[in-house]
Amino acid sequence: PLTTADLIEEHKICVCVRKRPLNKKELTMKDLDVITIPSKDVVMVHEPKQKVDLTRFLENQTFRFDYTFDDTTTNEMVYRFTARPLVETIFERGMATCFAYGQTGSGKTHTMGGDFSGKNQDCAKGVYALAARDVFLMLKKPNYKKLDLQVYATFFEIYSGKVFDLLNRKAKLRVLEDGKQQVQVVGLQEKDVKCTEDVLKLIEVGNSCRTSGQTSANAHSSRSHAVFQIILRRKGKMHGKFSLIDLAGNERGADTSSADRQTRLEGAEINKSLLALKECIRALGRNKPHTPFRASKLTQVLRDSFIGENSRTCMIATISPGMTSCENTLNTLRYANRVK
Ligand code: ADP
Ligand code: MG
Repeated sequence: PLTTADLIEEHKICVCVRKRPLNKKELTMKDLDVITIPSKDVVMVHEPKQKVDLTRFLENQTFRFDYTFDDTTTNEMVYRFTARPLVETIFERGMATCFAYGQTGSGKTHTMGGDFSGKNQDCAKGVYALAARDVFLMLKKPNYKKLDLQVYATFFEIYSGKVFDLLNRKAKLRVLEDGKQQVQVVGLQEKDVKCTEDVLKLIEVGNSCRTSGQTSANAHSSRSHAVFQIILRRKGKMHGKFSLIDLAGNERGADTSSADRQTRLEGAEINKSLLALKECIRALGRNKPHTPFRASKLTQVLRDSFIGENSRTCMIATISPGMTSCENTLNTLRYANRVK
């Protein structure tokens, strides 16, 4: 099992993989679990193939990441090795970002937001809430207490290249860039939060706003990026910002050949933003002078998180265990591999 001593504190980008358990539907249709996590930083995909003579064999592919989490790992544990080390960053005047990336149904929202599947919604165990909890704990430390920091939260969605405020009845917001390349989401509500409970309420409000009027929660969320931010201010000035992002499903790229125009456009937009995101994270990791943040709305609103000395990012690539998801899983692992 993992221990806190395994934490690597000093790197700008941390890329992890989380496998979820087989779900009821997969078990019913007797889908095979084709993913193994043989050690804490390796993931293997066993892809069934057929030879010309119709005999079957397994093609094994191995990937290595900072951490790999098997299907018994809790949210708290995933959090401890991914977002947790980044909380300090925002107290040290830095920018922290944590992304959940993967196909629809692989566990992005479960990881970031908590469990919204059952009747009793439980967002207290998602990465959003766990990060908020630790921000308030850290605030009590003498070093930081004397800074007199205020905590704020925002929650918005990027859908088809447009920004909507999830804490203000989905008001559509404009994104402006001033002469100094500062990007601003005009009118975005920044809610004053004093404790973890305040944050939990906002997550609930935002999440119900996100899916309202939708026939299925996943149908909508698979096509939009949700951005939850914890902002620290000192005398009104930004001190640090933690952005936690539940990305649109990465399988949506396939929609670019859909017969429906709107679906096609959405698919193209998602492709574009995920591609831009990859390039921006890579630029951050390699200290490149040029970060192509203007290539998509997602990377544009996250501009200040990609630029600057004290920016740190982690990505949690979530994967489904089933053979039927194999192609999407391999795409996710290849993308994550490029980012690290
Ligand atoms: P996504 O946001 O990537 O589309 P979800 O987070 O909604 O996927 O997960 C799909 C379903 O699988 C949900 O019912 C969720 O509760 C369940 N699930 C996801 N990850 C896990 C996990 N690690 N353990 C148990 N159930 C999970
Ligand atoms: Mg989701």
